[in-house]
Amino acid sequence: MLFDGVLTINTRRACFLVPCLASFPVLFLPAQEPAGLAAAALADSSFTWIHRAAPGFRVYFLADSYAAANQDSLLARLPPALDHARSRIRAPALDGPIDLFYLENRAQMTALIGGRATGFAQPSTRTVLLVTNPEWRGFERHEIMHVVAQDAWGRPAPGTDWLQEGLAQAADGVCAGYSNADVMLALTARHGWIPLDTMLTSFRAQPDLRAYLQAAAFVGYLLQHHGPEPLEELWRRGARPDSLIRGRPLAALERRWRGKLRPRQEVSATTLSAVESKGCG
Ligand SMILES: [Zn+2]
Repeated sequence: MLFDGVLTINTRRACFLVPCLASFPVLFLPAQEPAGLAAAALADSSFTWIHRAAPGFRVYFLADSYAAANQDSLLARLPPALDHARSRIRAPALDGPIDLFYLENRAQMTALIGGRATGFAQPSTRTVLLVTNPEWRGFERHEIMHVVAQDAWGRPAPGTDWLQEGLAQAADGVCAGYSNADVMLALTARHGWIPLDTMLTSFRAQPDLRAYLQAAAFVGYLLQHHGPEPLEELWRRGARPDSLIRGRPLAALERRWRGKLRPRQEVSATTLSAVESKGCG
């Protein structure tokens, strides 16, 4: 809980290797002013922010940080990330700007959100927080997709964590310089697949790297072959193995997807171990 009775942080399991999503109710929503988590971050006197803007964004760099020293190049990445997210799901323009904050490290993130993550989105207030430093790239595409998807499709149905994170990580597209699918295939060769039913019912209880990449690769496949409309339906109504996508059960599509998957680029055992230890950043 950040604000008594106003904003409730979801305290489900932390994500250490990949970004996280906060999807929780916020009871006040001024249309254009920074709200919720953005307002709280701006009001926190332990942080000094450098204010910048880019089309569709109000951006805040932590003073004396790596991001502040690289603000122009980081700013330039944001409008294309927003365009990319919107085009992936054919979403309309947002009603207002995204308030996006660049932090230096995970401790600062924890101070602001009360949990552990390297990226964080509060879609209801169009707020995004990103950690970036010389050792970790910011996942702007991932977190911006969380905002865009919820803005376009509304509050997600319960049990759609796999879809929310799959969409976001599919928007990001890469893990340690490899495609999501290539790293996922290497992970499944080492650890096995997470069954679809488990993905749908207890996504957050799975090892986050494996779950996120398996969801991302599957959602990316569904988007590519069936477009965003069936995914919007699942987002709004929830998903089961027998949910239909263009007349075919989700479970059948998942089997077909698995059977067709081929690696484009081999991920070495050494690289895979590094990814498992450090994450996709
Ligand atoms: Zn996420």
